[in-house]
Formats: sequence, structure tokens, C-alpha cells
Amino acid sequence: MKIAMIGTGYVGLVSGVCFSDFGHEVVCVDKDPAKIEMLERGEVPIYEPGLDALMAKNVDAGRLSFTLDLATALDGAEAVFIAVGTPTRRGDGHADLTYVMTAAEEIAKLAKDYVVIVTKSTVPVGTNRQVKQAVKKANPELDFDVASNPEFLREGAAIDDFMKPDRVVVGVQNDRAAEVMADIYRPLYLRDFPIVTTDLESAEMIKYAANAFLATKITFINEIAALCERVGGDIKEVSKGIGLDNRIGNKFLHAGPGYGGSCFPKDTKALARIGQEHAVPMQITETVIKVNEEIKRRMIDKLLDLCGGSFNGKTIAVLGVTFKPNTDDMRDAPALTIVPALVGGGAKVRVCDPQGRHEGEALLPGVHWIEDAYKAAHNADLLVILTEWNEFRALDLKRVARKMASPHLADLRNIYSPRDAKRAGFAAYASIGRGEFI
Ligand code: NAD
Repeated sequence: MKIAMIGTGYVGLVSGVCFSDFGHEVVCVDKDPAKIEMLERGEVPIYEPGLDALMAKNVDAGRLSFTLDLATALDGAEAVFIAVGTPTRRGDGHADLTYVMTAAEEIAKLAKDYVVIVTKSTVPVGTNRQVKQAVKKANPELDFDVASNPEFLREGAAIDDFMKPDRVVVGVQNDRAAEVMADIYRPLYLRDFPIVTTDLESAEMIKYAANAFLATKITFINEIAALCERVGGDIKEVSKGIGLDNRIGNKFLHAGPGYGGSCFPKDTKALARIGQEHAVPMQITETVIKVNEEIKRRMIDKLLDLCGGSFNGKTIAVLGVTFKPNTDDMRDAPALTIVPALVGGGAKVRVCDPQGRHEGEALLPGVHWIEDAYKAAHNADLLVILTEWNEFRALDLKRVARKMASPHLADLRNIYSPRDAKRAGFAAYASIGRGEFI
């Protein structure tokens, strides 16, 4: 089957590459000439482990190609996926559907034969119907269906998530579209991965409900961690103790500096906004958004305590700025709240991240980028672990402490323990929801 994929970002490119690996002929389209040029040269514009090799394999097999020209991509395609961004709309928190609706209108103008228009972008309930109306209006003759197919992959583990999903969600209005979607996902059907087929609205809602639930789970454990800091208890033990309950599950119970990334912040805001618009306030989600902001700010207070009440004149080394390891994505990363507070407070800030520099340079003005964690720690007053890249999980803490002007460690991912830090010679150590010493 031939598939057109609109958008070659984190979702579109991974989906396009994986569909081609299923055996489909995939043409990926993007508006950004720089991205298409890179892809045509065989270079991957984002950092996603394993993507370059899988892309090269399928390009070599003649199943995968890239173009700026939507007409070429649509020619003979039975399905066209919309995988463009749906960022937060300025001012009101709503999902900005401009890119989705533009893509829909472009498809309407260029499609000739029957095609299923599949929205992979995360969109509010009702958007697929809006897409249908817009396409009908722009091209009343076109024979088409719409389908909702939200994506659940995680950056950093995207290929595995796509190839071995917990489930695939497909929202359709009739059997004809359902059959095309079944053909596309046949390799997963055959391997017994659950495919949840629903109406359009349920599929759209599943994505927001899933992300809001996960954001709630993280925020819940972060709040319990804050309480542990006051009353005692070790959040790692608490997480383990509750996570072993099958009704709760052990995922998303790692306390940290607050959630960030390209999805949770914008999707929780969009869900809250949808609730407000329909007079069904999403009170839990609204509270989660508020508490998460407080958690990020509380991290700054923690760092201030370690710096004796002022950042002014201090040298602070920050390890990790991407919103999580194994990605170069900086969207809504906690670093974007925390690092500017350090710079603004008068600190000299050094930043070390295996993949974050390319995106981060423009977003974090006034910092000094350093390739190596030990070099970053040299003569520093405080070392902050902000993203748990593997490179930072097995540091020689004694070596780090020896290099520092004042060996103070803020371990905001609970990689080490107060005991590790004391043994290594740190004079002060703070983490999340556990014992600390200053
Ligand atoms: P992205 O910003 O990385 O990529 C979007 C791409 O679409 C860009 O390359 C842009 O140039 C291109 N584009 C926009 N309009 C276009 C048009 N009309 N024609 C051709 N190309 C166009 O976005 P992303 O992170 O891949 O997210 C895409 C969608 O998937 C969003 O709705 C997001 O919420 C959802 N999603 C993202 C993730 C994730 O981990 N990033 C996971 C699940 C779902």
C-alpha cells in the first residue's frame, strides 16, 4: 500500500520509517526545505536512537522517500497521515489546529482518488469532523474518509514503542476506512498487539485522557515526595511500595523536577481548556498543571538553599537540559524554568548535555556549553543533575567532588543517594523526597 505522511517531526518521521519497515511504500512530506534536504542526504534531523539505521534500510529498499511536494506524495496513496504540530495556542491554552487544518485543505486541493485522511496529531474531540467538513468544502467531488489514529510513542524509545505498542487506537466512521487502517497495521494485528477500533470522538479523547492521567500520576508522586521531605520517608521506597500494587502499577512513579516535554504540558492545558469551553471543568487536570509549575519553582528554592541563599557569583554546572534522556527535544523542559533562574540570579552557568546543545543554544542564553561532565564540574560551587542521561548515572563522584570549588550536589533525578554523596566527599546533597544534608 502507498502511504503519504505529512510532517517529518518526531512522530511523522518515526511513523513513516516504521510503516515503510512494515513493507508499505511511504512518501514523507514536509514544508521545511532544510529538513527534506537532510533527509534526502540520508541524515536524520532529530536525535532518536536507531532511527538512522532503520531509515537507511528502508530508503535502500526503495520503500521510503522524502519530498516537499504533497502532490507527488498523494499520487496513488490510499492513506494520508497528518502528523504536524498542535502546539498550545497563544493566550488561551487551546490546541492550535492551524497546521492540521492547513494540511487538510492542501490534501483536499491535490487528492484525486479515494483516500483515508488520518489524523495522527493530538487533536481535541471534534477535530476529525472539522477536517472532514473542511475537505468536503474545498473539494466536494473528492471520495474520502477520515480516521483518527493518535500516537503514543515516547521520544527516546520511539521505534520500539511504534513496533511493539501497548495498543493502537483507530477511530473511524465506516468499514471502508476501517479496512484501509487494518491493512496498514496488519503486521501488528498478526503479532496480536491490541487494536482498539472506536468512533472518531473516543479515539480523540483517549489520547488526551491518557496523557492527562500520566501527568497526574507523575505530579501525584512529586507531591508525595515534597511531603516526604518535610515529614520523613524515602520517596524511592514509597514509589516501590505503592507501585507493586497491580492496581497502581510501577510506571510513572519516579519523583523528579516536574514533567515537561512536547506533550504533557500542552495536552493537559488543551484538555483543561476543552473542559472550560464546555462547562465541564477538568479540575484534576487544572490542579495538576498548577502543582507541576509549583514543583518546578520548588526546584529553584532547593538550589538556592544549596548556594547559601543566593546564586550571585556562584559557578553552577548543570548536567542534562533535554526534557528527558535519549532525545534532543527541549520543548517545555524543566531546564527552561530552572536554568534562566540561575542565570538571572547572577550565577555563571555551565551546561553539559549529550544531545541538547543544538536546540538548547537559542533557548538558554548566557550559559557556557561544555562537552564533558567532569570539565563542567571543575571549580564549580554546585553540580545539578537535571536529566538522567546514562552518561550521568555512573559518574565517579569522588572525582567530581575533588574537582569542585565547593562540592555541593543537587540530584534532581534521585540517581545517587545521600550515602553515595557523603562517601564521595560532597559537603551538601539534595535530591527529591529523600534525606539530604546541607
Ligand atoms: P514536530 O514539530 O516535531 O513536527 C511537525 C512537522 O510538521 C514539522 O517538521 C513541520 O515542518 C511539519 N509541517 C507542519 N505543517 C506542515 C504541512 N502543512 N505540510 C508539511 N509539513 C508540515 O511535531 P511532533 O513532535 O512530531 O508532533 C506532531 C504531533 O504528534 C503533535 O500533535 C503531537 O502532540 C503529537 N505527538 C507527539 C509525540 C512526541 O513525542 N513528540 C508523541 C505522541 C503524539
